[in-house]
Parts: sequence; C-alpha cells; structure tokens
Amino acid sequence: MKKRVSFHNLGCKVNAYETDVMAALFEDAGYETVPFEEPADVVVINTCTVTNIADRKSRQMLHRAKKLNPSAIVVAAGCYVTADAERALKDEGIDICIGNPDKPRIVEMVAEYMGEQKPAGNSGPECFRLTRLAERTRAYIKIQDGCNQFCSYCIIPFARGRTVSRSKEEILSEIRGLTAKGVKEFVITGIHVSSYGYDIKYPDAGPKADCFAPEILLDLLKSIDETEGVERIRLSSLEPRIITKEFAQGLKEIKGLCPHFHLSLQSGSDSVLKRMNRHYDTGVYENCVAILRDTFDDPAITTDVIVGFPGETEEEFEQSLKFAEKIGFYQMHIFKYSKRKGTVAAGMPGQLTEAQKAERSDRMEEIERKMTEAYISRHEGTEAEVLFEEEAVIDGQNMLTGYTREYVRVAVKTDVPAGGIYRIRLRRGPEAGILSGVEL
Ligand code: SF4
Repeated sequence: MKKRVSFHNLGCKVNAYETDVMAALFEDAGYETVPFEEPADVVVINTCTVTNIADRKSRQMLHRAKKLNPSAIVVAAGCYVTADAERALKDEGIDICIGNPDKPRIVEMVAEYMGEQKPAGNSGPECFRLTRLAERTRAYIKIQDGCNQFCSYCIIPFARGRTVSRSKEEILSEIRGLTAKGVKEFVITGIHVSSYGYDIKYPDAGPKADCFAPEILLDLLKSIDETEGVERIRLSSLEPRIITKEFAQGLKEIKGLCPHFHLSLQSGSDSVLKRMNRHYDTGVYENCVAILRDTFDDPAITTDVIVGFPGETEEEFEQSLKFAEKIGFYQMHIFKYSKRKGTVAAGMPGQLTEAQKAERSDRMEEIERKMTEAYISRHEGTEAEVLFEEEAVIDGQNMLTGYTREYVRVAVKTDVPAGGIYRIRLRRGPEAGILSGVEL
C-alpha cells in the first residue's frame, strides 16, 4: 500500500506554491496525497511567521495534526521554523523541522527520519519546481524569493533572506511542463516580485532596498508570453516604485498580461508610510496609478492596507481612508496591524487596542465595498474574456465560475466544461461582487 501524506498551508502565495511543489515531490517518491483530516503517515504543515498570530496558528495546526494523526510524522516546514528554530525544535508535537532552504530535501529528510534509504528521484533546489496541479487551470509560479525592503513591521527578510531570482530557463521549463497539463493562466509570484533580476544584473550589489531591474522582469514576462499554451499572465504584486512609463508600456506589449495590478499601499498617510519604512510616499504611489491608467483601459488596481499601525492617529487614518477613496481601488485586502516579535514596529510606542483596530478596519471595509461595486458596475454590459475554472453552488444554483482578465469573478449557468476561455457579455451577478453573463 502506498504511504500517505497530507498538507496544510498557511500564509502567502509563495507558500501555496511551495506546498504544491512539496506534494508533487512526495508523489514522485510514491506517496499518495490525502486530505488533511484523513489518516496519513506524514503530515506537513507549511508554516507562516508574518505576525505573532501567524506563529500561533502555525503551532496550533502542528498540534492539531498530531492530535488527528498521533502515529504520523508531523513535519513543520517553512518560515516559522526558519524564524524561531529554537522553539520549533523543542516542540514535542513536531517530529521534523524543515526551514525554507531545506524544502527541496523534504522527502529525503523524512526518509532519513524513518530510517529508510534515500528515495529514488531528483533532489536539490534545481528540482524544486511545480510539475503538476490537481485539476486547475491557474498556477502560481515563484520567480524569486527573499526581500531587501525591511519594512518595519515585517519579519520576512529574516525568515526568507535577501532577494534571489530563479533563472529564466528554469521558470520557462516549469511553465512548459504545466501548459502540457492544461494550465492556461500563470500568476507570477514571489516575496518581492519587483526585485526580480536585480541579483542577476548586479551579483555583487548587496542587499540594497532600491533593487530593480525592470528590463529583466519584462524580458522574463515576454518569454513566458511567447511560450506555447500560455493564455494569461497575472502579476501577483508589484512595488509602486517599479512603475515608470517605459515599464508600463513594456507590460502593455505583453499580449497575455492581465490588466490587473496589485500595488501594495499599506497606508495612505505619508507619516505612517515613513514609520513603516516603505520607501515611497503617496505622491509616488498616485503617479504610478496614473501611469497604469494612462496605459491600460480601466485596469483593476488592487492593494493591501494595514490599519491601526503603531501610533496611527485618527488624522493619519482619515488620510489613509481619503487616499484609498481618491485612488478608487477595485479591491483592498485590509489587515489589522498585528505585532510581530523581533520587528522594529513591535517596539514602537502608541500600540492601538484591538477594538480601535477593528473599528478602523470596519470603516476601511465600508469604503472598499463601495469602490468594488463602482468598478464592477462599470463592467456591466461590456464584453469580457472569462477563464472558467470550477463549478460552485451560488444562490442555490450550480454554476461555472471564473475570472475576467481584470479579475472580476463571473458565474454563469452553462453546460460547457471548466478549463476554457469564453467571450461573455457581462451582466449583474447572483451575489454582490460577482457578475454573470451570456456567452457570445
Ligand atoms: S516588501 Fe516589506 S512587507 Fe513585503 S516581504 Fe519585504 S519587508 Fe515584508
């Protein structure tokens, strides 16, 4: 009987990608992947350490895994282990700790722990790539790891190290393997995607925060676009400072690139941005959005915002609200500031209470709802290309759902199978935030 492995992923898109890769590595070594709740021989928790709460959730999941599967080998992988190895190693609920750099060796390390021989198959960083996905038409592709930015609230540069880019050849080969299995859309992911290529161009430059090589990123995207079977490219996140007229024009020339730009704002108050050590101000940000809107036809601009950063006054929060409204985002991911031990912000004076943060989060969400509605309304009655991904029950009806190039969710009643791209005339959907439509 095949050995069984299960996974639970916490945190960001890079972690999600790496969980998919680890699942494929175990399957290559003869394992069967089973759902997290089912009995398994090995349970892998891909942990996150972005806040103290993420650390706590990682520990809770590890202990839950042991409780659900007392005889399984519980593996703690990823950022929590890298950032707090001492605590992880002492934890009796964890059998094996695997930091980020060792993820490519996970199958080998589990075999060693079991007293088995090194498994057949490839091992090593160059083999840490996605080879398949379970019934999905969209895949995350990690193009770089690490970050040089050192935002004052973030531990990630310590957990993942400085920025390191993957080679173009490696990325293209991974993508070719996935298009052959039906993947049509590639989400370009990394810890700090905008620094892609900097370490390639300047191998001796050191960890500067000003680390862009836009021509290398554009060249990569162009080559991905030219790869047979690639229909869409979506950028998961960009740093505002990389956007210039030339860069935006370069993006426009990439046929498959979706006009959906996620530009992390974090705060619309210049004084808060400074305390966050964010290296740009609202003027720079606004200019970047203007460039994108001049270059693309009503692109979707989405963002991340933190509310209740240490010392954030009511006036600073109001500035943030007003700035968000002025930009007119399609969607915002709103986070209540959460302390992370070991960061500069954790020791800053003026920490807000949970009630204050919740109140600000509610106010930010209220304007987000209005902005989302405004963006979606502008698309009603227009034609759009939708990549249908999966079936879902919405409002009691079986529907096929997918996304437009702008990442507007669309649900239709149709008999066509998932996995195809169709032209649709959009109309009001069954729920807020979703459009429906008729096939053209
Ligand atoms: S850019 Fe800032 S928030 Fe993002 S990973 Fe780097 S340090 Fe963390």
